[in-house]
Amino acid sequence: MKKLVGFIGWRGMVGSVLLDSLQKNNDFIGFRSVFFTTSQLCGTPPHVTNSIATRLEDAYNIEYLITLDIIVSCQGERYTTQVYTKLKKNGWKGYWIDASSYLRMHDDSIIVLDPVNLKSIQLGIEQGVKTFVGGNCTVSLMLMALGGLFKNHLVDWISVSTYQSVSGSGSQGMLNLIKQIEHVYQNISPHLPLSKSILDVEKIFTGSLNNMYNSVHNSKIPILGNLIPWIDVSMKNGQTKEEWKGSAETNKILNSKKNILIDGTCVRIPVLRCHSQSFTIKLNRDISIREFESLISSHNPWVKVIDNNFNSVTAQLNPLRVSGTLDIPVGRIKKLNIGKKYFSAFSVGDQLLWGAAEPLRRMLNILINSL
Ligand code: NAP
Repeated sequence: MKKLVGFIGWRGMVGSVLLDSLQKNNDFIGFRSVFFTTSQLCGTPPHVTNSIATRLEDAYNIEYLITLDIIVSCQGERYTTQVYTKLKKNGWKGYWIDASSYLRMHDDSIIVLDPVNLKSIQLGIEQGVKTFVGGNCTVSLMLMALGGLFKNHLVDWISVSTYQSVSGSGSQGMLNLIKQIEHVYQNISPHLPLSKSILDVEKIFTGSLNNMYNSVHNSKIPILGNLIPWIDVSMKNGQTKEEWKGSAETNKILNSKKNILIDGTCVRIPVLRCHSQSFTIKLNRDISIREFESLISSHNPWVKVIDNNFNSVTAQLNPLRVSGTLDIPVGRIKKLNIGKKYFSAFSVGDQLLWGAAEPLRRMLNILINSL
């Protein structure tokens, strides 16, 4: 009989992209599925091939969850912390595939990104590993973009600045930005076409955002017309947790013998979807720009090297162009004046696809095909 797979968090940002992708790739044909919720018990499950669901099931029903062969959770860290632990205590022997960070650094889990670490995943399945976790979005996108350099053991260190979209913080982040656009438009539209000086309009724009948050939301910071150079909680060394993940998760995924140093500043920007990253890369030997480009583009079929000229870069290296695709364009590749082994590169990737849902979808298929 086909394996029974339970989906939790399928309604959220990552979950809905995963569901869409599973349907487009006709993956539901390979297993039976059932759908859970933490909040919508009266809701209707999605219509997919081989679904045994007649209604949404309670995502906290341990007796039901324990009957599943595979659980795919895109619900978030709090849910995983609570439910995974209970299932394990109750002797559950199934496979857990997760989008959240809670289990990533556990000794008995593998962070999955199969174009980079398929061998570790296959070995893990053979050795009885049951927990497979998607990586942090910027980590996965960086490894997809620069995988050819890591594979050839060329990287000494990377300093990175990220430009992360609001959907990276979930559906609420998207809704907040859209509400801010609506709010500002309502304030500005009476003056359009321009009945005031452009500086007066700028004051209305800035003032309406500041007032909205000072009065209504108090502690929150507007993201429209703004940026926030802080993502996730603080670590003791001055990093944010998002920045800490860069090195920790990269080294775990690569199973590196020598710790590869990765650090930088993670920044939230008012873009709906896709994360962009600007890299300063120190290699351990002097290679040509052509070799650099050839190494990264031959690593996986999704990397596309973008010519270093205005037209190519502006047309192809931006979030709007990349949203909803698996493309990983890498451009602005140049040697830095700092020294012969120093390169810059800029990459954009859909953090809901390669940064979240796609490694999980592929992991589910790897499991289904190997059990
Ligand atoms: P999310 O959009 O906030 O969804 C999480 C859950 O919130 C949903 O499954 C849903 O659960 C509930 N929810 C409440 N209001 C909702 C609404 N208006 N629309 C849809 N769902 C709503 O979170 P997410 O961004 O998908 O993240 C899930 C996990 O993946 C997190 O651990 C996150 O850190 C991780 N992750 C996210 C990204 C990203 O780019 N967003 C990337 C990598 C990893 P019920 O149906 O049970 O109510």
